[in-house]
Amino acid sequence: MATKKKPFVKMTCPVCKEINYRSHKSKTMEGKLELSKFCNTCRKHTKHKEAKK
Ligand SMILES: [Zn+2]
Repeated sequence: MATKKKPFVKMTCPVCKEINYRSHKSKTMEGKLELSKFCNTCRKHTKHKEAKK
């Protein structure tokens, strides 16, 4: 059985630019993905944004 590849996005911290999370992006989602996640480098919650390819 062939598995379909789901497009995933890298979530980067805007402060240290580290890639901390990976998230699946659905086609219905519009605009850029933005999530408030804990950054281990900054040791605080930052708004992680979708990284450019
Ligand atoms: Zn950070």
